[in-house]
Amino acid sequence: MQKQEIKCKQCGTDLEVNPGYITWCEHCDWNIDPTSEVPRKKAIFHRFNMFLGKKFSKNLYNEINQSDRFRPRLNLSWVFAFIFSIIIYTINLTVVLFFIRIGFNIFNAYRDLAGFVGLLIFFAIAYLFIPKFKKDNVNPIKREEFPHIYILVDRLTDMMGAPKIDDIVLTNEFNASFSQIGLNRKRILFLGLPLFYLCNNKERIALLAHEIAHNMNGDIKRGVIVGGALKLIENWIFIVAPAKIRSVYVVDIYLEPVVILINCIRWLISRVILSFWYVLALLLWRNSQRAEYYADYLESRISGTDASVSLLQKIQYITTYYSVIERISSFAYSRELFSELEHALKALPEREKQRIERMNMKYESSVDATHPPTRLRIEFLKNHHKEVESSIDNELVIRASSELEVLKGDVENYLIGLFKH
Ligand SMILES: [Zn+2]
Ligand SMILES: [Zn+2]
Repeated sequence: MQKQEIKCKQCGTDLEVNPGYITWCEHCDWNIDPTSEVPRKKAIFHRFNMFLGKKFSKNLYNEINQSDRFRPRLNLSWVFAFIFSIIIYTINLTVVLFFIRIGFNIFNAYRDLAGFVGLLIFFAIAYLFIPKFKKDNVNPIKREEFPHIYILVDRLTDMMGAPKIDDIVLTNEFNASFSQIGLNRKRILFLGLPLFYLCNNKERIALLAHEIAHNMNGDIKRGVIVGGALKLIENWIFIVAPAKIRSVYVVDIYLEPVVILINCIRWLISRVILSFWYVLALLLWRNSQRAEYYADYLESRISGTDASVSLLQKIQYITTYYSVIERISSFAYSRELFSELEHALKALPEREKQRIERMNMKYESSVDATHPPTRLRIEFLKNHHKEVESSIDNELVIRASSELEVLKGDVENYLIGLFKH
């Protein structure tokens, strides 16, 4: 059969067409991500972000590779981030006290029902600015029902010298995460079952160890002070930014210009507040990215480099998983979702892998990216290779995994249902 070819629309290179996969150009990156279209308004910022991010990412990678201490260290941007966070808390407290005071002033001036209503209104505004701890209304799995996954996680925290995980919450996502929530700062590990099912036993250890490492890798963005300041700024934006410049509700035709003017002012203020967020995010960028490399490093000491690398490779093909699920959902040719996904992963042509890697490298090198580019993380891990024989009893991983197998059918139905119209 003759191979089909087309010419690159940007540089004219002959491109091989592989049916079922995206045709793209390796010389000029034409069409590496056909789904993304940056709006013209955002193009300049986007390019600036990418340019800076690429430079920062490369510099940090070179620096971290030359040193032998990976844990984020106290530096000037760390100090500035703390000072900036304290300023944010001070502003927030001032705003809260300001509205409470106005409320009291109004009440004292009138001392009647209208005055009392005024007091309540300003108290309500003040309340909006008070930080609220996310209620821990998550739904963790019970230790009695799934004992082995808890034993496995406990054993890993012991080995790593990390604080104990309080609860495990299962999700339907192709990832995992760690978070501390609620007033008592419960340590919660969110485990995406789809990713867990796709991993082999060694990769499962790597996945769990990575999230546990997030609790000990010196990432101040997750800490109470700086993390709290970021949340305060997000809350300010939520309060101030209008949903739309034109009124959402139908107002009087004469009132409309006034509403539009107020919304324009609100929008402008929200942009100024957003710049605070960016200042803090930029100050934290090095710390967070370093912390991510450090989490990879800590994880690989437990799981071994090979498992850590193959886990990262699996995670980066996430777009492929969703296209397979969509295909299965549309044509209903199989109910064995996870074996289809494994098969699709094995059958992925080298060129398609290259495209996804390039696309990820492009997006992950931005200054607001939460993780360093996967390609650099893989290179970093390979440069600090560690062979691990059997750090964890394989039988325990098998038991923990088979315990979770009972939920596989539900997860498959959920994922297939995502694309049902
Ligand atoms: Zn080209
Ligand atoms: Zn991470």
